Amino acid sequence: MQNTANVSDLRVRIQDVLDRIERACARSGRSARDVSLIAVTKTVPTAAISAALAAGVRHIGENRVQEARDKFPALDAPYVGHLIGRLQTNKVRYVPHLFEWVHSVDRIPLAEALGRRFEAESRTVNCLLQVNVTGEESKQGVALAELRSLAEAVGRVQGIRVKGLMTMAAYGASESELRRTFASLRAAARSLSAEGLPNVDMEHLSMGMSGDFEIAVEEGATMVRVGSAIFGPRF
Ligand SMILES: *Cc1c(COP(=O)(O)O)cnc(C)c1O
Repeated sequence: MQNTANVSDLRVRIQDVLDRIERACARSGRSARDVSLIAVTKTVPTAAISAALAAGVRHIGENRVQEARDKFPALDAPYVGHLIGRLQTNKVRYVPHLFEWVHSVDRIPLAEALGRRFEAESRTVNCLLQVNVTGEESKQGVALAELRSLAEAVGRVQGIRVKGLMTMAAYGASESELRRTFASLRAAARSLSAEGLPNVDMEHLSMGMSGDFEIAVEEGATMVRVGSAIFGPRF
């Protein structure tokens, strides 16, 4: 657990990340307004999350539902919650009270369960389809070859809006491998978008973490998920 609850320290680190996003945008002819910073708060105590919110963060990401249940109710400022990790169907019932975005939709039954929950509350959830671009076996996400049929099926689920794609690059990948991964996700979004599937919008690409978010921005990320560069290393 970190104890970086100091608002001014956090402000400096957050500003540094925002500056680096802005420079990556400038290098690639993009507007920094088109990139959202999601502060990843896994293992970060509530006090530090509140400090980040006080320092101007609006989007927070957790990879476990239980951890969000433990921490989010104590937050004292408005935030937009993003679920970025594996979601088990039996945890779906907690999602509507915690998250507006789910980045990890990779199978139809999960999408159906989410849609039912949000529909029951007359709401919709913004979903990203998680893609396993690199094909590593240990990794969640739909294979590129199955993405189109997943998108088509999830697009039909009530209570869900498909807003784009998410991926995680391979751990320890070289810069050229990272670029290839991110560019593949972008190309997949472009070709899906051209299909014009109902309720499948390819507005967002969630890609890039502390070690590679500048490359991801150069390759088209609209959401970067940054933890340790803001809150310090996780132990
Ligand atoms: C932990 C995590 C991140 C952030 O990782 P950092 O390297 O600390 O920035 C991003 N995305 C997912 C899915 C994560 O689980």
